[in-house]
Formats: sequence, structure tokens, C-alpha cells
Amino acid sequence: MKIICIGRNYVDHAKELSNPVPKQPVFFMKPETALLIKNRPFFYPDFSEDIQHELEVVVKISKVGKHIKKEFASNYYEEIGLGIDFTARDLQAAAKAKGLPWEIAKAFDHAAPIGKFLPKSHFTDVQNFDFELKINNEIRQTGNTKDMIFSFDEIIAYISQFVSLKMGDLIYTGTPAGVGPVSIGDRLQGFIRDKEMFNFEVK
Ligand code: ZN
Repeated sequence: MKIICIGRNYVDHAKELSNPVPKQPVFFMKPETALLIKNRPFFYPDFSEDIQHELEVVVKISKVGKHIKKEFASNYYEEIGLGIDFTARDLQAAAKAKGLPWEIAKAFDHAAPIGKFLPKSHFTDVQNFDFELKINNEIRQTGNTKDMIFSFDEIIAYISQFVSLKMGDLIYTGTPAGVGPVSIGDRLQGFIRDKEMFNFEVK
């Protein structure tokens, strides 16, 4: 499986990092070794001093597809989850400044915690639900999928022009505003509405 992440998919987040609002989706990938499952702890890596959380709604691809048309894209996923796109912001800033790729800042081991999934049928409208991140019981990030610049279906259609999608692939659909650092000892809890989707500690 592979993990595909969308960058800059919420206007308020693009603005907080002083990035332009994109005209097409921007995507990058993380390897399977980036997954962190079952609420296992995230161990703060020694190569960064600025690991930041990006709370993201995650779509799980349910069948093989390429060149998927937007109008059929919703047939390619059945479940929606919530995860964190951990980013070594210090390494990312250095890479960006030199025009280098981002993998060093995004693709490291356990940089993609993922929680539970909910069936699509759980949602009356997948493009309109609230989600939030609490750290040590304080709300740090909130979002609603209606504020995505590119919808799930547009993302799937766009990515599949370039990369075939396979069952089990995960698409992290971008973070709303409110990204920030985590510290050792923090407890991160993600919610879709009031349903807890993940709950793990930084060690
Ligand atoms: Zn992200």
C-alpha cells in the first residue's frame, strides 16, 4: 500500500504558512513504514526539534483504479478515517529553501498515525462534517470538510491521472489551520464530531 498526502487543501492553512492557494491539488507520498497504528506511542525522533501535527481526514481506497473520472470517484472509497501528517517543520523549511524534496520532513518512520475508520454511510454528507484535535485535552485544531479546496472526488480523480490507486491505499486530504509543535508527554486525541478516532501519546 501507499500513503498519498495532499498539501494546502484548506485556504486558512495555506495562509498560515504563507503559501499561495493552489489551482491544482499538490500531493506527495509517505512509505508504508510511516504508518503508526493501534494508538501506539509516537517516539519523538532525534533528527528534528520541531515536529508538528497536521490533523487530516483520511480516505481509504477500496478498489483498483486509474484515470478515475470525478463523477465516479466516490465508488473508489468506502471508509473515512482521521490521522496525523507529522511534519519535521525545521527539516521541511530547510528543504523548501533549497528547492529540495520533502521526504526527509514527511516520510520518516511513524510520521503517519492513523486511527479508526467509519463507513461512508455514517455521514449524511462527506463534504460537510467537523473534526478536531485535542492535545492534553485542549482543542488545538478544528476543521470541516466543506472547507476543502479540492473535494475527495476531485483529489481521487486528479491523483489517479498519474498514479494508479489500489485497495488499501490511504489519502491524507490536507490539514486545516492550527498546525503546531508537539512535545514529549503530549496526548493527542482526534475526533470526527464527538467520536474518538485516535488517542496516542508522544514519548
Ligand atoms: Zn499535511
